[in-house]
Amino acid sequence: MIPLKSKEELRMLRLAGKVLSKIMRELERVIRPGITTLEIDQLAESLIKREGVLPAFKGYKGFPATVCTSVNEEIVHGIPANRMLKEGDILSLDIGINYFGYFSDVAVTLPVGRIDSAKRRLIAVTKKSLAIGIEQARINRRLFDISHTIQAYVEKNGFSVVRQFVGHGIGRQLHEEPEVPNFGNAGEGLILKAGMVLAIEPMVNMGTWEAEILENGWTAVTKDGLPSAHFEHTVAVTERGPEILTA
Ligand code: MG
Repeated sequence: MIPLKSKEELRMLRLAGKVLSKIMRELERVIRPGITTLEIDQLAESLIKREGVLPAFKGYKGFPATVCTSVNEEIVHGIPANRMLKEGDILSLDIGINYFGYFSDVAVTLPVGRIDSAKRRLIAVTKKSLAIGIEQARINRRLFDISHTIQAYVEKNGFSVVRQFVGHGIGRQLHEEPEVPNFGNAGEGLILKAGMVLAIEPMVNMGTWEAEILENGWTAVTKDGLPSAHFEHTVAVTERGPEILTA
């Protein structure tokens, strides 16, 4: 069963998305060489507290932090620590909040200082793949139209999409049905309907799509050690087309 959101639920999810994107913008501004991922996490926690809402990730299935900070070859679920970011790194920042019982989820990959052109292109392609995937989130399209659009664009650009981790429905829960893979066949999957809200989140690797989990039980890294990027928005399927709640 895919929950279709009521008008009132959509109103709350819009507010959840608005607050989260404001928090993300503030976090983006502090990313520079020399900051540690733990400092970023502490700032995120204080911003979330300031807004009077709750972090969605902390404690979720035992995740120990407010944000996921994934550096370079880390794909997702990087755990904030005393790791200092350095010039040339890329940082994927993933945050979710619980806004009075309504969830939103967003991720971006940011350059730390000056980065090389290959990483710049990886970030640009991942960001664009999300944008064109979102364009498919329309009534009467199929779910995998989103997935296929993302995969085709990424692979055309010489990169690969991660298979082990996928996007998801979102609303009264952080993770709801359906799963939203970043690969698949166009014209397949469920028919999209007004009121569906999806967290669409391409994870794109420069090399192989294969991933491994580190010994901490959380952090996914690329098997070949090459960098990975991640962008995510919470998106509502509406009568007027896709509405990005975390824009
Ligand atoms: Mg997500």
